[in-house]
Amino acid sequence: MATGPFQVAFIPPAARSLDGSVTQLHTAAYHNPQALPEGPVLVVGGANSGLQIARELATTREVDLSVGTKLPMVPQRLLGKDLFWWLTRLGLLAKTVDSRIGRRAQARDLVVGTSRRKLRRAGVRFRPRLVEASGRTLKFADGSSIDVGVVIWATGFRSDFSWVKLPGVLNDGHVIHWRGVTGVSGLYFLGLSWQHTRGSALLGFVNDDAEYLAERIATFLGDDTVRDELADSKVPAQPFESSL
Ligand SMILES: Cc1cc2nc3c(=O)[nH]c(=O)nc-3n(C[C@H](O)[C@H](O)[C@H](O)COP(=O)(O)OP(=O)(O)OC[C@H]3O[C@@H](n4cnc5c(N)ncnc54)[C@H](O)[C@@H]3O)c2cc1C
Repeated sequence: MATGPFQVAFIPPAARSLDGSVTQLHTAAYHNPQALPEGPVLVVGGANSGLQIARELATTREVDLSVGTKLPMVPQRLLGKDLFWWLTRLGLLAKTVDSRIGRRAQARDLVVGTSRRKLRRAGVRFRPRLVEASGRTLKFADGSSIDVGVVIWATGFRSDFSWVKLPGVLNDGHVIHWRGVTGVSGLYFLGLSWQHTRGSALLGFVNDDAEYLAERIATFLGDDTVRDELADSKVPAQPFESSL
């Protein structure tokens, strides 16, 4: 199963209490500022997508940005090298899901290439966590509130494996596996978030998991040719410019 780790756009239940006159969209449906109605915008969500969209919108209109969880921010380039060059060289993308660093990193992803200071300079007003929505009014954890006509939900994605009905594969919607190997004979997953490392759901690093699974599948099938081909074609990971 390689059906992706981020299938469903998540929108908080508060969205349902907003008036029909408020234009709401998830980042999955966002294209550019011109595609939105004019006027002030609230962006909800302070991770990579929310910050980048807030910065883009702030060039032409008033923008408030609600940040529920402050994430560590790192520049895209350090000492002339891309961040992913450093993460690869320091072995951080290879830290496994059950390591101390891996456990900490799962809880707090990085915001890359944006800073609060730059956003403030661009005119973005920071708000804490959104706690309530009603009509055209949105309230925040510090007691402040605003009225807006446009809300962009930069509130992330969720996995959805509800269509997998095989017994023993899911627990509370999550795949039960070790490095993509499930308890069901012959069933493997690839591309899950933190399947084995942070790189598991990144295009430039998924090859480690793919190779591991290919070997397991070859063993399962009793097929030596796959193992021989893998041994001949060890391709090193290619770090690439990325925002995640
Ligand atoms: C906002 C955002 C930004 C990202 N930025 C980066 C980035 O900068 N760098 C990076 O490496 N990664 C990034 N990612 C992660 C990126 O999505 C994955 O690296 C990549 O798409 C994973 O590829 P995949 O083939 O495993 O899954 P996907 O690209 O999600 O492909 C899964 C496919 O399976 C299909 N599918 C799903 N369910 C079924 C079903 N029941 N039956 C049949 N088909 C099905 C889907 O339609 C889809 O075509 C980002 C993700 C998000 C959400």
